Amino acid sequence: MSIAEHYDAFLLDLDGVVYVGREAVPGAARAVAELRRLGKQVLFVTNDARSTRRQYAAKLAGMGIPATVADVLSAGSAMAAYMTQRHPVGGRGCYAIGPQALKEELAIAGLALCEGDAGRTAESVAVAFHEGFHYRELLVATQALRAGAVLYGTNRDTIFPMPDGPWPATGAVLAAVETGGGRQAIVVGKPELPMFEIARGLLPAKTRLAIVGDSLFSDIQGGRRAGIATVLVLSGNTRPEELARSQLQPDYVVPGLADIL
Ligand SMILES: [Mg+2]
Repeated sequence: MSIAEHYDAFLLDLDGVVYVGREAVPGAARAVAELRRLGKQVLFVTNDARSTRRQYAAKLAGMGIPATVADVLSAGSAMAAYMTQRHPVGGRGCYAIGPQALKEELAIAGLALCEGDAGRTAESVAVAFHEGFHYRELLVATQALRAGAVLYGTNRDTIFPMPDGPWPATGAVLAAVETGGGRQAIVVGKPELPMFEIARGLLPAKTRLAIVGDSLFSDIQGGRRAGIATVLVLSGNTRPEELARSQLQPDYVVPGLADIL
């Protein structure tokens, strides 16, 4: 029996599972088509907030994987969905530190965005990595948080690899905002539970659910915490030696997405 036969729906991480950077993982497009043909629901879930769901759907379509906005959950859109459950539309608004895509997802969800110094009176602050992070943003967020705003972050990734060496990631920016604001963030992305709760809300009740990911820390740990089955693919950033040493062991390990069929 294949892995796929045991489950009704799959949360598929994107980078390292469906594609690596700009390149599709060999066999991934056919695997997604086959899952759908078998009646399995597929939801693409990524911790990356640098693009909107529309942009991810377009990227997937360009790789031969038909996808709509409804098929994608990004850390940005999950954060927006999570925040709208807690901050009613028409409140004092949200101050966002992050890429344009994050601001778009927050706005699409109905949250009012406070720009510039108006952010000092925001009722929430949302943080995701962007290269334009500025001291002024830290200042506005600090004052909003010290005045009682609630802080959200997409993840606590510390660094990401770049050709010239590691670059500081969302976790580094979030730590600065937490220190200035004197309060801890609610983290929405994998491995934290909000992302999984939002994903579950998009699927029918009693769905037998599995996550397929390439990261032990975010995908496998997150799936474990959420109480769903976990499938590690070795097409991304986990090496077999790392897996052998890890305390965290997935339910299944396969070379690539196509091998769950
Ligand atoms: Mg990944």
